[in-house]
Amino acid sequence: MVDLLGQYAKIKDIVDPSIEEVMNSAAFINGPKVHQFQKNLEDYLGVRNVIPCANGTDALQIAMMGLGLKPGDEVITADFTFAATVEVIALLQLTPVLVDVDPITFNIDIKAIKNAITPKTKAIVPVHLFGLAANMDAIMDLAKEHNLYVIEDNAQGIGADYTHRDGSKTKTGAIGHVASTSFFPSKNLGCYGDGGAIFTNDDELAHIIRGIVNHGMYERYHHDVVGVNSRLDSIQAAVLDAKLPLLDTYNKARRNAARKYNEAFKNHPKITTPSGLTACDGICDTCDCHMFHQYTLNLKDVNRDGLVAHLQKKNIPCGVYYPIPLHKQKAYTDNRYNEDDFKVTNHLVTSVISLPMHTELDDEQIEFITTTVLNFINAN
Ligand SMILES: *Cc1c(COP(=O)(O)O)cnc(C)c1O
Repeated sequence: MVDLLGQYAKIKDIVDPSIEEVMNSAAFINGPKVHQFQKNLEDYLGVRNVIPCANGTDALQIAMMGLGLKPGDEVITADFTFAATVEVIALLQLTPVLVDVDPITFNIDIKAIKNAITPKTKAIVPVHLFGLAANMDAIMDLAKEHNLYVIEDNAQGIGADYTHRDGSKTKTGAIGHVASTSFFPSKNLGCYGDGGAIFTNDDELAHIIRGIVNHGMYERYHHDVVGVNSRLDSIQAAVLDAKLPLLDTYNKARRNAARKYNEAFKNHPKITTPSGLTACDGICDTCDCHMFHQYTLNLKDVNRDGLVAHLQKKNIPCGVYYPIPLHKQKAYTDNRYNEDDFKVTNHLVTSVISLPMHTELDDEQIEFITTTVLNFINAN
């Protein structure tokens, strides 16, 4: 699904010296590279504070700890996403409230959020799924009306621009009260191991979070709050700082690949290609709302699992993200849930398929992939 080796081969001459700097300084933990990357990412995102940490799951957990959420507080998030989001809610003994998603964007459904809000609700966690910005204006309005925190899970959306109703743009991750991201190798900005970060424009919250990531210390050996140990190591920061200037170029390559995929599948009665917020294709000329972490088709009247097997036989990687709704996962089932409230997710898990998407896809590969997909669908 990704070509990390092909990408590394092209950027070896900028990544290796950055890593070597760390090796030669032996500042492996909290070295100058970590600080440098943090500053550069703050500038890139237009956010006041970036707090690096060990991975994207920690970032979500620490964001929730920083907001002071307490056991029993209800946190609303999407049923159709990676489990990390609901996992940390449950770990902190908060109450996860899973809600359905929109059938076109696959992002959290605004009406479903509204219906799920109770006096115990404290936060909403929208996920910019597959790289497409969630409907943030509507989510921020709801949050304001009900006095809720918004925690953006930006693990798949880094670099995307959200266009507000008034036409202004903000990078995803800089809109909510706090946001998290992951630098897992296959993410749009990936390191060569684990990494993550928390973003916030709230300086006071940033201060609290900087202590939490460091054992709850604000002064050496004074532990004011219960914290964790979650650090981005200097070698990973060196990789990320070398790659950050390439992020826009990389995202552009993904969007170009998506455009070619869309063209090949255009108007096919059994295939719905990805769509953006305003029912654009997410890659129109006026928005940059979709960074295509995944390129995901929604199929109609197609034997999806047959197609998966066919692609595997032709050595074309593909993925089903995600095959089981979170509310049906053993760890997260709850008799409060009603199947009628999850019609979209229950269907999407049977109809979606993600095709290879990365920065090194060439026209020949795209042609081979689309022809193989279309041959199967047209013959079955
Ligand atoms: C990858 C991912 C995470 C977790 O990131 P890790 O760095 O693997 O812990 C969280 N949420 C979403 C939506 C993700 O895609």
